[in-house]
Amino acid sequence: MRLKVVLLGEGRVGKTSILFRYIRNEFQEKQQSTLQASYMDKRIKVGSVDAQLSVWDTAGQERFHALGPIYYRDADGALLVYDITNSESFTKVRKWVKELRKIVGNDINIVIAGNKIDLERNRQVSEAEVLEYAKSVGASHFYTSAKQNLGLEECFNELATKMVAQN
Ligand code: GDP
Ligand code: MG
Repeated sequence: MRLKVVLLGEGRVGKTSILFRYIRNEFQEKQQSTLQASYMDKRIKVGSVDAQLSVWDTAGQERFHALGPIYYRDADGALLVYDITNSESFTKVRKWVKELRKIVGNDINIVIAGNKIDLERNRQVSEAEVLEYAKSVGASHFYTSAKQNLGLEECFNELATKMVAQN
């Protein structure tokens, strides 16, 4: 079973870093912003089901508000990433949830990742606010760090479980 997951969120929140850490177990302090829009595959087992996740990353178009629906309209799931040290990036998550529900439909599986949890001392987004919001839209929420490799398996396992259950 092949499942498409898109990474979405404001520029610089760590989407590309999450992709490289999750698939290749690599991290770069100076992640290139000009990578091509592309995807990487990962095989994952959900119970007895063999799933192949295609995880799509943007080429940085989100920085110019130029990310078209062609990128996400056939997605089975979305990992919406914000940076816990940047409250605006969490506001952007709310916009993405609305956009996805409108364009892809209410069935899209959404997991929210509060990235850069290694920088918790600079936290700008309150946990209570995030948990309440995630609950209100029926999404799971995890804290992640692409830098320290925290929470990423949990995010993708949760998404895969939801997507497999739906297919
Ligand atoms: P994107 O624009 O959403 O793809 O973000 P990038 O993956 O390019 O990351 C933006 C910057 O944040 C880069 O300098 C990364 O090294 C850094 N970064 C990404 N994830 C983390 C993290 O979990 N912790 C910390 N401290 N920095 C991170
Ligand atoms: Mg990127």
